[in-house]
Amino acid sequence: MERISAGPHHTAYKIGDLTVTSLRDGYVDMPVRRLRQPGDKPFGDDLPSQVPLFEGALRLSVNTFAIDDGREITLIDTGSSNAWHPTMGFLPQALSEAKIAVGRIRTVAFTHTHLDHIHGLVRSDGRDGFPQLSRLLVPRAELDMFRSVARLSRFHDRARPLDPGQRLSANIKAIAAPGHEIGHTGFRVTSGGETLLVWGDLVHAPSLQFERPEIAWEFDADQDQARETRLRILALAADNAWCVAGAHLDSPGVGRVSRTEAAFRFEPL
Ligand SMILES: [Zn+2]
Repeated sequence: MERISAGPHHTAYKIGDLTVTSLRDGYVDMPVRRLRQPGDKPFGDDLPSQVPLFEGALRLSVNTFAIDDGREITLIDTGSSNAWHPTMGFLPQALSEAKIAVGRIRTVAFTHTHLDHIHGLVRSDGRDGFPQLSRLLVPRAELDMFRSVARLSRFHDRARPLDPGQRLSANIKAIAAPGHEIGHTGFRVTSGGETLLVWGDLVHAPSLQFERPEIAWEFDADQDQARETRLRILALAADNAWCVAGAHLDSPGVGRVSRTEAAFRFEPL
């Protein structure tokens, strides 16, 4: 995987015949108590010093990923638009900076249905984010959750169920990654013998959770299952030398995972 262009809100890579672009929707600051030790225990003075804080808060990048196979573009997650903090919602700027015509985005697929991943379907001015959208894929277990979001009501009937193992195209396959949310899904992207795993919210605090994958997130629907899934997928990525792309890894959020004596390490690409 090779970087081919970059700017403040985007970084593009070649992987085989595909172009994958990390698009920066923005960031969100979160209280340290979101990090949970086993037993649902928050950190206090024992927070490891390697975790950078911004005015006492954890800063999470919010990234989405566009996969261009030369014919059409699949977008994984869409950011927050104007539905949450004003530090997010920059996907339209990121797309224009990356020279991605929104009309070429025909498929949108969600890793899960939390608000920082789905609201970009509707721009802050109320227009459709992707006017030529022909396929909207929502993890099957979260269809009802998606259809309860009033701001996105015009998309409720257009949403189609997404199942683990489902192929979105010749190059993209959904894989189960439950825990953070009931239907949380990763996308394995392959071309030219290379693999990239777009893993959504497998990791929220990259400064800590590679080294200590047992640390969970308060908003994990099932922290134990999220831990198990994180360990399993970190091992898969490390042992197969896959590249990974994370929604909340520091922008652009693309790199490789390797094993250490105790756990794992992330090396940005
Ligand atoms: Zn998220």
